[in-house]
Amino acid sequence: MTTKFTSRRAPVYADIPDKKWNNWRWQLSHRLNTVEEIEKIIKLTGSERDALSAQGLFRVDITPYFISLIDPDNPNDPIRKQVIPTATEMVPFTAMMEDSLAEDKHSPVPGLVHRYPDRVLMLVTTQCATYCRYCTRSRIVGDPAATFSREEFEMQIEYLKRTPQVRDVLLSGGDPLVLAPKILEEILRRLREIPHIEIIRLGSRVPVFMPMRITDDLTEMLQKYHPLWVNIHVNHPNEISAELDEATDKLAKAGIPLGNQSVLMAGVNDCPHIQRDLAQKLTRIKVRPYYLYQCDLVEGAGHFRTPVAKGIEIIEALRGHTSGYAVPQFIVDAPGGGGKIPLQPNYVISYSDHKIVLRNYEGYMTTYEEPAEYKVHDSKTCAYCQNKRPEPGQSGVMGLLDGEEMFIKPEGFDHIHERGGLQHRLKDDAKWKPLGIGSGKLEDNS
Ligand SMILES: *Cc1c(COP(=O)(O)O)cnc(C)c1O
Repeated sequence: MTTKFTSRRAPVYADIPDKKWNNWRWQLSHRLNTVEEIEKIIKLTGSERDALSAQGLFRVDITPYFISLIDPDNPNDPIRKQVIPTATEMVPFTAMMEDSLAEDKHSPVPGLVHRYPDRVLMLVTTQCATYCRYCTRSRIVGDPAATFSREEFEMQIEYLKRTPQVRDVLLSGGDPLVLAPKILEEILRRLREIPHIEIIRLGSRVPVFMPMRITDDLTEMLQKYHPLWVNIHVNHPNEISAELDEATDKLAKAGIPLGNQSVLMAGVNDCPHIQRDLAQKLTRIKVRPYYLYQCDLVEGAGHFRTPVAKGIEIIEALRGHTSGYAVPQFIVDAPGGGGKIPLQPNYVISYSDHKIVLRNYEGYMTTYEEPAEYKVHDSKTCAYCQNKRPEPGQSGVMGLLDGEEMFIKPEGFDHIHERGGLQHRLKDDAKWKPLGIGSGKLEDNS
């Protein structure tokens, strides 16, 4: 470990014995959620009091450890904004959605989102150690009654067993690390029994909210299920404490590769200098920045949104300026279920048939001379090309390039371009029904 990170405890907890403070069950059972409890630690603003007293707000709960990281005298503290609600949360905005990533539509069985060809997102609980105000899954998270049943878990396992293209399972929720240790182990064991599942990932903010959960018992258990990857979720350098450093050190020593996912948020981390400090501190605690997300169009998160350009500005300030390991990918998770779309600054200036003109982070402009002779890769004799994994209906632009498909058409394209023609030919057909704008496939009606 390099320079020590600091450790903080709010003055109200000064007399709590270390044995309790460092016990994750104590942290969970002493979480704060009312005006009275929170006010003992930080002086609340009118807007925060209103929100905390409002009905029907997304669940509030904060571990004593995490609330201690807030500077009680700063109403704009970046950690405070992530976990203490304000009245602005109740303000609707244009394009706001309940399930902005259309996850429910992509779920073949409850709690299992199969959006991409070879991997699934498995929601194993609705509970978290602390609730983030901008939660993308606030439609289900926090509600103990909405948590997944044993029956649903068995359905998820059955689906995975009969779906051999799934080679990567991402456990999320809620937060898988708040599950009772036995249940978490059962999930991992059952997944490992499925031969085609190659890697398991955990998405968890527990190391950040409650680093004491990363016990030796936990890392010993996790190691049995390798290859296992963990993504944590840190948004601001102030979240990187001595305790988090110790937790990620334990995970890394258990052979678990660590990544970080952040959400870009106005007033929290929408600054290239904050992001550079965050990225560099993450690499010091052995965590590789993985994704920086544009804030989703989710209810309650409107006041956190930044222009998409802010993310590109941040990547511009990272790439070349610091270690490549410290540069995350900036991602817009497409509203409506389009999935993750990476964005970055433009580095290509121009092309000709033999040259490409590029620029670097400094504005240095260069040319790369293309090879005059290029022996085209022969897919006929390449064993990998011959045995490629099928991605039914999902090969996308790659499928256009490798010749599998000639074109990709928007829904209804053929119908629109028939103009009156087809209608004329079919007008005597009793089955013919006029199609509304944007309605389903032509075949359905012909
Ligand atoms: C983010 C996500 C994944 C994992 O995506 P990677 O780019 O492989 O990290 C898988 N499924 C769903 C539904 C997701 O949202």
